Amino acid sequence: MQLVNKFRDMNKKMEAYNYVLSIVGWDSGTEAPRKSFRRRAEMLGIVSRELFTLQVSKEYQSVVEELYSNIDTFDDSFQREVRKANKELKKIINIPEDEFVEYQELLQLSQQVWEDAKENNNYEAFKNNLEKIIEFNKKFALYYAPKRNPYDTLLDDYEEGMSTIEYDEFFNYLRKELVPFVKKVLEEKNNEYDKFINDSYDPKKQEEFCNYLINVFKFDTDKGLMKKSVHPFTWNTSPEDVRFTTRYLENYVFSSIFAAIHELGHATYEQQVSTDFDGTLLTGGTSMGVHESQSRFYENTVGRSLAFWETHLKKFKELFPEQTKNIEPIDMFKAVNKVEASLVRVEADELTYPMHIMLRYDIERKLMNGDVSVDDLPQLWNDLMDEYLGVRPNSDSDGVLQDVHWSAGLMGYFPTYALGSAYSAQLYFTMINDLDLDQIITDNKMEIINEWLKNKIHKYGSSKTPKELLVEVTGEEFNPKYYVKYLIEKYSKIYF
Ligand SMILES: [Zn+2]
Repeated sequence: MQLVNKFRDMNKKMEAYNYVLSIVGWDSGTEAPRKSFRRRAEMLGIVSRELFTLQVSKEYQSVVEELYSNIDTFDDSFQREVRKANKELKKIINIPEDEFVEYQELLQLSQQVWEDAKENNNYEAFKNNLEKIIEFNKKFALYYAPKRNPYDTLLDDYEEGMSTIEYDEFFNYLRKELVPFVKKVLEEKNNEYDKFINDSYDPKKQEEFCNYLINVFKFDTDKGLMKKSVHPFTWNTSPEDVRFTTRYLENYVFSSIFAAIHELGHATYEQQVSTDFDGTLLTGGTSMGVHESQSRFYENTVGRSLAFWETHLKKFKELFPEQTKNIEPIDMFKAVNKVEASLVRVEADELTYPMHIMLRYDIERKLMNGDVSVDDLPQLWNDLMDEYLGVRPNSDSDGVLQDVHWSAGLMGYFPTYALGSAYSAQLYFTMINDLDLDQIITDNKMEIINEWLKNKIHKYGSSKTPKELLVEVTGEEFNPKYYVKYLIEKYSKIYF
């Protein structure tokens, strides 16, 4: 018992450091003035080092190791905590310190190198950094699991239980079932609402609409708030402090609306985690994929439904009477679901989005297995864009250089985006057995949906694995058929 208490105390201390770093991070992402960053980086460096010293201290290691060697004597949820702690520890302590430091420095530098390369459309300038990042990722994965394919180790890091076996099956299925359908949709005319979509919308009024959305989704503002930032994100330290951001683009009002709804999905998940898990390693959402399933469910299944706009167009029209003169709910529904072969992932619609992820998975898999060299990446990227969406980027800035992830060392992260959408569809087909979703949305009763999500998913925090959750809620393992069925049903209604 003494050991358990020690484990708790040490984790709490680390949590305190993380809390401080996190609050500063929120401030950096939202309100901090530009020139505050130099001093801030220095201060944060000191606090982060303190935290790291605690994490890898001999004392903490011996506590975790001893608990781990007696793991069978604990109840399920504590077993899961110990396993998590042990895994996190093993990921770091097997890396030689000089390599760890070298990698951190590489990542710091790569951020700027990537930004410049993207701005100047100069892939050559970034390629060596990318190659080094890949090598480090491979090496570190092998330190952790010497006998496992490094990419499998990374995939499992971002989504517990996933490997190339599951993802291959998933993406092969999408390639076979979805690509032909996407191509068919892309042949349809779809610029009917372009003027309405890209009209000028006062950012102040956009903000008013986003505040209205907070009420629609029944987000608890005693335990959270919304601000603006360049890249929308959700932030939390506990279920009682969950914040998110959106952004306001004058000529693209849907950006603020759907970023807000998306982040509300993440934020509601975090708010509804049971406070019983406070102070344990089981608080917070269970995985990237499950998190993304909640945000995309809110954004696409609820926010981009006809029922939603039948109820909420009225408010939108009140704020923007000029721009919406001839717009009826069905027009809004069609406009927010416009499909187009975009070159850029973050601008992609719900239907073409998985194509962008499939392409990144194909490339990461090849990179990590040494089946393609960084020299051939732009060509491979453009060929795959052509194959999946029938468009070719004419610059690497809109091609291989577009995302921040690889420069930040996040290899294996991308697939969780598509997986989250697919989880969301599987959950949707279960939910409609219990709830009349359209009616609930029309009646503006999101609290009913929130309650369902809370009881089935949110309240468990990370005490259950993604696999366990999915089986318990939907009665079966992950099945991509639901995703394809959902997309084909929805977009057939709109386009055919
Ligand atoms: Zn998200």
